[in-house]
Amino acid sequence: MRLRGWEKLDVDKKSQLNAVMVCGAGHSGSTLLGLILDGQPDAFYVGEGGKIRYLHDAKKPIHKRVCKICGEDCPVWSNFVWDRKAPLYRQVADHVGASLIVDTTKDTDWIRARTSELRNAGDQACLVLLIRDGRAVVNSRMRKYPERAPETEIARWLSQVRGRHRAVRVL
Ligand SMILES: [Zn+2]
Repeated sequence: MRLRGWEKLDVDKKSQLNAVMVCGAGHSGSTLLGLILDGQPDAFYVGEGGKIRYLHDAKKPIHKRVCKICGEDCPVWSNFVWDRKAPLYRQVADHVGASLIVDTTKDTDWIRARTSELRNAGDQACLVLLIRDGRAVVNSRMRKYPERAPETEIARWLSQVRGRHRAVRVL
């Protein structure tokens, strides 16, 4: 696991928001890491925050526009409306009363956009690039999607890892 910026996070600076974004190839353990970080004081794990884009979007199927865990009655997401003119994580932090936001969206455009919002607002961003042994990733995907060819999953893992390494370098 490579951590960038982690050592610079000053969690005692109350006015400042901290965000930890976890990226890597799918099936690398990001959800587990997100849940572990969620246990930190004042932390809130949004899951894959990119899905916030689809909340309350009537054009999306119901399972995409509500919380994946609690459904329509979610105490957090049922009454959260993203004002896209303002930084997302600050809105989420105000909504749930957190000062550390954890997001495991792997989409590099999403990570770039959130990083620039954080920096512009004077907040702190930390990016975690999770690298899991490719054999374990492919094994996990083959169990979940037995109909897929292992060669395709190996190629997909390689391209995701290379793509995310490139993205991390430019952040
Ligand atoms: Zn929920």
